[in-house]
This record gives sequence, C-alpha cells and structure tokens, in this order.
Amino acid sequence: MTENEISSALDPNWVTFDLKRLDGNLSLLRHRIGPKQEILASLKGNAYGHGVLQVAAFLERAGIFGFMLGSIDEARDMRRQGITAPIVAFAVGLPEAIPEMIEDGIVPTIVDMAGAHAAASAGSSNVPARVYLKVDAGFGRLGVPIDDAHAFLADLAQMSSLDVAGLYTHLPFADAAEMEWSRCKFASFGWFLDRLADAHLLPPVTQAGASSSVLAGIKDQSGAVCIGRLLFGFSPFTDSAIGDADAFEPVISEVGSRLVQVTSHAPGQDMAIANVFGAATPKRIGVAPIGVANGLHRPAPGSRPTGLVRGRRVPILAVSLEHLTVDLDGVDDAEVGDRVLLLGADGEECIDLGHLAGWFGLSDMDTVQALSGRLSTNYIGGD
Ligand SMILES: *Cc1c(COP(=O)(O)O)cnc(C)c1O
Repeated sequence: MTENEISSALDPNWVTFDLKRLDGNLSLLRHRIGPKQEILASLKGNAYGHGVLQVAAFLERAGIFGFMLGSIDEARDMRRQGITAPIVAFAVGLPEAIPEMIEDGIVPTIVDMAGAHAAASAGSSNVPARVYLKVDAGFGRLGVPIDDAHAFLADLAQMSSLDVAGLYTHLPFADAAEMEWSRCKFASFGWFLDRLADAHLLPPVTQAGASSSVLAGIKDQSGAVCIGRLLFGFSPFTDSAIGDADAFEPVISEVGSRLVQVTSHAPGQDMAIANVFGAATPKRIGVAPIGVANGLHRPAPGSRPTGLVRGRRVPILAVSLEHLTVDLDGVDDAEVGDRVLLLGADGEECIDLGHLAGWFGLSDMDTVQALSGRLSTNYIGGD
C-alpha cells in the first residue's frame, strides 16, 4: 500500500476542485469586462471554501492583478508561500494592528482617520505606507461615508507617509429590485470619481464592481473589479432571471466518501436511524464515515437526497454527526470500500452542486463553505 492509499483508508472522505473550471470562469470574466478593467480576486472565507493557497497560486500564475481578503492569517500564509501580487485586507482588525499588516506586506483598508494615522506611523516620506480607502457609497456597512470622502482624501493627501494606492466601495445586490438601487449608486459613485479626478485626488486603483454588477452589465467606470463568487461558479442572485450565472461552472467537482459497512436487515428489523421501526421488506444499507462534522447538513424537510454508488442513485436515509447511511436496495453488488459520491459524476448519473445545496437547504456558496477545511482536498486540472 502506498502512503496515499493508507491515508485514504484512514480518512476516506474527499472533495475535489477542478482548477480548469476556475481558469474557464476567469477567462469568461475577462471577456465580459473587457481590457479596460483589472481583476482583483476576492478570496475571503478560505477562497470561498476552495483553499486560499492553492487558489491564489493558480490565479497568480494566470496573471491576476491582486487579491482582497478578510483573514490576516490567510494573507500572511499567502506571502509566506511566495505570492507577490498585491494583497489588500478588507477592513478587519483594530487600527493598532495596521502597522503590523504593513510590515507583513499586506495593504490595509482604511475606513477612518484613526486607521489612517496608524498606517502613517508605519510609513515615512521616503517609503510611504500603502493603503486602500473604503468608501460607503450606500451599502451602509463599512467605509468613510461618500459625502465626507472627498474632504477625507484631501486630508490624506497631506500625509506624506501615506500612499493611498486604491479606493473602493461595495454595492452588491441579489434581486431585480436591489439591482435598480445598485445601478443608481454606481452612477453616484462614478460622479464622485469624476470630482476626485478634477481635484487630482483620484487614487491609481478604483473599484466598485463585483459579481452581481458584472453579471448584470451595470455601467462601471472604475479601473478594477473585485470578483469572488463568479470565479468559483456561484450565482450572486436569488433571482435566476437576472444575468446568466449558469455560464460559470462550479469549481467544486466531487464530494465523496467510501462505504465502511454494508448490512442486510430482515423484514421486521428496526433501522431507528432512518425512523423505520420494523422494516416491511428486506433492506440493504451502507454506512460511510462522513457527516455533519465534515460539513454536511441534515436533509432539508421534504427533500429526497441521494448519493451515487456504482453509478446508481441511492437514497440517503440519514445524516448524523459522523455518519451517512444510504439505502442500497437495487445495488446488490455494493461492498465495503465502494465510493459514495454526494456530488460529481459516476457513469451516466451526476449530482451537481445545485442538487446538493438544495438538499441541505443552503445556497451553493454556503454549501461549499460548510465543507471548507473538513475533507481531504484534491486539485485537478491545474497544469
Ligand atoms: C466579497 C466582497 C467582494 C466580492 O463579491 P462577490 O459578490 O463574491 O463577487 C467585493 N468587495 C467586497 C468589499 C467584498 O466584501
């Protein structure tokens, strides 16, 4: 047995990500946005559950302009791994953490004057500290309010140890009503950028667009977009009538485990796990060591989840903390060691991310996030 086979026998659960699909989504995005805008990749939440180091390395090789993410630990790991493209931290941490970020080669986001002073203390007029400024253009979460931002930038311009390399905002939306709100805010942000340009206060990088605005084709005059979901093939919309998110393919291509026991129950026997007390007919069941602790969810009420064993659909009877129980009636040849796919293709059958997410009652994005870091991870298609 090779080392690989032993470890997979000890821990037979896996998730596979297909980097060719990531590449395909990136190409599609580049085509959509055209040559005038750069792409910053949003890699928050461990690259939306896909593994920040592998994704960052792949995107850097593909020539991405830079990265934005929330976790300083993950940003540091990226630097340690040798990622050299700009890494911008979404505003996280307290102002006193900002000098340390700058020392580690991470560009902090400034949202107020306390942050600006903290950053300036880590720079000098010879080597000014690079920061991005976040403006709240209407989303109401983080940033300097847009009405104050012009004066704020004028103040920052007086600080010789500060280099405001970028300016961004966030105007995401999920449905048609919010889209009109966002369109209007994009227009105001554009007007604001024009006034900054008139006053020679416009930072070199500007960004407002994200997955939703790119997919909906909202007019955006910033020089960059920051894309997360679409890179990984997740739709930003609850309303499938907007955009064509289906053109982007989920990067997750397989979730699976292997059977550790196959048993037959005679008529009359209980399978309390599936709420069957006294089975009416003989039943063959299989158990795989994957469950809620690995990021699966219990099936949403009314859903009829299935897995795939030997290319056939098998109903999922129960999901518990560490186990999955499947109904093997009709798969007479199933045996210990067989693969149980919860997502992916086996023979003619296929379970896609939308199915799995539907069974869990989660969005596609939250389904992959739930599995993040809890299964051994394979990457394919990366060369
Ligand atoms: C997450 C995030 C993005 C990317 O959004 P997507 O919808 O995933 O493309 C952009 N900007 C900010 C501030 C974010 O938090």
